[in-house]
Amino acid sequence: QTTLVWFRQDLRIKDNPALSWAVEQGDIIPLYVFDEQSDDVEPLGGASKWWLHHSLQSLQKTLKDKLIIRKGKAADEILALAAAAGVDTIVWNRRYEPGELSRDKDIKQKLKEADYKVKSFNGSLLWEPMQILKNDGTPYKVYTPYYRNGCLGHASPRYPLQSPDDIKFSNHDVELGDVEDLALLPTLDWADDFDALWEPGEVGAAEKLSKFIENAAQQYRDQRNIPAVEGTSKLSPHLHFGEISPNQIWYSILDAFGGSDNDNIDTYLSELGWREFSYYLLYHWPKITTDNFNKKFDQFPWLNDSNALVAWQRGQTGIPIVDAGMRELWQTGYMHNRVRMVVGSFLVKNLLLDWRAGAKWFWDCLLDADLAANTASWQWVAGSGADAAPYFRIFNPILQGEKFDKQGEYVKTYCPELSKLPNKYIHKPWEAPDKVLSEADVVLGKDYPNPIVDLKESRQRALSAYDEVKG
Ligand code: FAD
Repeated sequence: QTTLVWFRQDLRIKDNPALSWAVEQGDIIPLYVFDEQSDDVEPLGGASKWWLHHSLQSLQKTLKDKLIIRKGKAADEILALAAAAGVDTIVWNRRYEPGELSRDKDIKQKLKEADYKVKSFNGSLLWEPMQILKNDGTPYKVYTPYYRNGCLGHASPRYPLQSPDDIKFSNHDVELGDVEDLALLPTLDWADDFDALWEPGEVGAAEKLSKFIENAAQQYRDQRNIPAVEGTSKLSPHLHFGEISPNQIWYSILDAFGGSDNDNIDTYLSELGWREFSYYLLYHWPKITTDNFNKKFDQFPWLNDSNALVAWQRGQTGIPIVDAGMRELWQTGYMHNRVRMVVGSFLVKNLLLDWRAGAKWFWDCLLDADLAANTASWQWVAGSGADAAPYFRIFNPILQGEKFDKQGEYVKTYCPELSKLPNKYIHKPWEAPDKVLSEADVVLGKDYPNPIVDLKESRQRALSAYDEVKG
């Protein structure tokens, strides 16, 4: 038997259910299709394309240069390859985004009509969204009962599979294609620094996990909120592209620290739970990528202020913790979770700009851009989501900075023009006396912007706007 293994968001060979199944049956043909042509499939952002390029190169190596690479409509490419290479079965690991779901359903039907066998597997979630429902048969809307009763109460996640040690590739004379032909790398030099910071691929993912287990897992609960510290796993882009499965992470953590009561470990596993919840919400409410989960927000009086949006995108708002976050994003393709919440709150509350504008920018700039997590998190920040932070709880970016970046190390890294300011003013340079500013070589409005909004007034404006819709 020859099985075509369609790689998608599962760019790994370990714990890959579709691949393992195919290898057990006989010969395989591995395929990746860069598909921006099927209807409703969200085109990748720039940072994601950079990652994909390198991840595919890495998978190509692992698969001994046998990975076939195509660009086009997935249905057409798969049917053409299956016919040309004498395949009888096609397998893949499932995806859950609305565009991919309807595309995959359509492909399955076309393949079946053409007399191919088709099989799909769960390769990216600990619990699939359709398995977890409340007793009344409806989906959960609140995280804690979803995770505790729905997921943990349902079944333990599947244990990772043994890696297939002897993959037999089918012989064929079909042209392989090349990652370079996909033209995924940016033409700007913006991504040049990513190479030194990230190692896309299965090996890089495993290394990140070992490092996290060794250095940070046992202090995760407290350290994860400090952006100047490597207190989190930074596995998000690896998880997004499926270079590691959540099952591998879940059990590596449990194997390393045992199942004993451990707040750090429980907190970390529960973050993986948030990832699951994001997919769950997207699966059951597929419109949330564009529509408010909470309809009240449909009437929200968002402003249309492109100058403010550009200042936010460029890290030029005059609020140091916000600017540091936005610059971290641009320079590294990543932003610390605490700071994502701060810059998000600042955008939708202090600047009164629509969360969708923030989500769009993140989609283009984040290496871990993920339709499920990005949508759910932005709606959470905006207060319009399921189980969201209430809109009226508005982060004060000065206090957030003073609490989580006490010494201003994070701000100084990304806003070096403020590096000589004393800690007392690092999160509010506009309050520094002239003498202090001049000793620190800072001229506000020249070296670093004045705040583009008054924090108190804009907070009040946000609360009034919310009053209009809260009903
Ligand atoms: P760790 O703290 O090590 O957590 C481990 C894993 O758990 C992460 O890799 C991630 O897969 C998952 N996770 C952690 N927090 C969350 C969360 N709140 N929601 C969903 N999954 C979570 N995460 C993305 O993967 N892609 C996105 O596009 C994305 N957009 C976001 C937008 C906003 C406005 C906010 C506030 C958060 C967003 N997040 C997103 C969630 C979170 O910020 C990142 O997952 C996390 O910072 C990744 O770093 P890490 O791998 O070191 O996380």
